[in-house]
Amino acid sequence: MDSPSDPSLRLAPHARIAVVGGGPAGSLFALSALQFAAQLDRPLDITIFERKDLRTAGPSGCNMCAGILSHRVVKGLAQLDLALPEDLILSRVRAYRLYWQANSFTIWPPDPARQVLSVYRGGGPRKSARASIVGFDQYLLNEARTRGARVVAERVQRVSFDSWPRVYTATLQENFDLVVLAIGANATPPLFERLAYDPPIAERMAQDELLLASEQSRAQMNGTVHVYFDEPSDLIFGALVPKGDFANVSLLGRHLRRNSLAEFLRLPQVAAIVGDQAPQVCGCRPCVAVSPARDYYADRFVAIGDSCVTRLYKDGIGSALATARAAAETALVHGIGRQHFAAHYAPVCRAIAADNRFGRLVFALVAHSKRNAVFMRALGRALETEAAAPPPSRVLSQTFWALFTGDASYADILRMLFKPKAIARLGKAVAQEFGS
Ligand SMILES: Cc1cc2nc3c(=O)[nH]c(=O)nc-3n(C[C@H](O)[C@H](O)[C@H](O)COP(=O)(O)OP(=O)(O)OC[C@H]3O[C@@H](n4cnc5c(N)ncnc54)[C@H](O)[C@@H]3O)c2cc1C
Repeated sequence: MDSPSDPSLRLAPHARIAVVGGGPAGSLFALSALQFAAQLDRPLDITIFERKDLRTAGPSGCNMCAGILSHRVVKGLAQLDLALPEDLILSRVRAYRLYWQANSFTIWPPDPARQVLSVYRGGGPRKSARASIVGFDQYLLNEARTRGARVVAERVQRVSFDSWPRVYTATLQENFDLVVLAIGANATPPLFERLAYDPPIAERMAQDELLLASEQSRAQMNGTVHVYFDEPSDLIFGALVPKGDFANVSLLGRHLRRNSLAEFLRLPQVAAIVGDQAPQVCGCRPCVAVSPARDYYADRFVAIGDSCVTRLYKDGIGSALATARAAAETALVHGIGRQHFAAHYAPVCRAIAADNRFGRLVFALVAHSKRNAVFMRALGRALETEAAAPPPSRVLSQTFWALFTGDASYADILRMLFKPKAIARLGKAVAQEFGS
């Protein structure tokens, strides 16, 4: 193994970095590395390999997600001097409406400055009559290119690690100083020679895009994410996300079946929002990573984003940003050896994986609670009561806002839920339920 002082494991001026995958993690790594390089006055040659044309409408040009950008991502983009163009923002989320059986309640943001936005990840819905658009992923890729990254529109097939990593596509073979793997959870890794990388375990979810055909459904979706817990069976939660004239339908669950989406769309509380015959204009069954990768760094190799570790079920783009920045800082400031990534990058990834254990606990609590009718009615009552209180004292709304937007760690969400004020408010509402 190289010693920490091995000079060949430091990035020299014009060192060559290959980023495999031009989704958010890949582009955000390139943008962060270029920013650190400028600060350190150490120019870099970065090549991003991206197999898809992200301007194409439909799943073939899309990185398939609900497209919610958390406040953490919005803030992180500003740190990179990126200002999202207005026409890329499809909706500004002002409220979450939660449905449980015949009940529903609204969660308002604890602080209106904590923006949550929705965007497209590709060129727009497959059957939309509109020309394809520039989505979030293409925007980031364009920005990386403008700031100096080279973009190669090819799939990386193989990477060998002899003295230096060598990247192979159908038409080129090149040596690099560092290879950054950012292929997400929906691709088979390239063939790696002499590398023990083991990708995360992934689960298959379901998505569609609906055209909001009536004025009424557009008004109901405007600025509101609708979240459902009841059906189909095995659902963790399903959401309708506002996307301008469209609504994204995202179902997260275990072992979702082929007809889960149709079942979900038939639910009366869903049909009441989008209509019972909203045209389905896209559709995909993307994977979400549910465990961390193993052996995700080595000398001259590091995996980031979904190829490494992601926050459980929420704010995957936020994790892509966090891992991309941490890997870029490690490579630029400390070095590109196994020991550098172990000391400065792995702690960030371990913290995300550790927090996901609390996330599982939070989702288990939600699954358990939704079976308890008295508790759920009491929760609705408590949320309604606290809506009249000043924003800082709306402890339950703050907790649920953080849960659905990914605005706080799962450990903090549990802490918020077990604050004496939250317990007292819920306890009082439960007592009122028994008394009524
Ligand atoms: C149903 C669903 C809903 C979601 N909703 C949200 C949400 O609302 N908000 C949120 O923050 N997160 C959400 N996520 C998670 C989010 O999609 C991911 O966390 C995020 O896309 C990870 O970014 P990434 O860059 O790591 O991977 P990806 O976005 O998957 O990007 C990987 C890129 O690598 C390219 N690639 C793959 N293999 C190769 C190769 N061999 N050579 C060249 N290029 C290659 C791919 O074409 C792709 O462009 C959701 C996920 C699912 C499944």
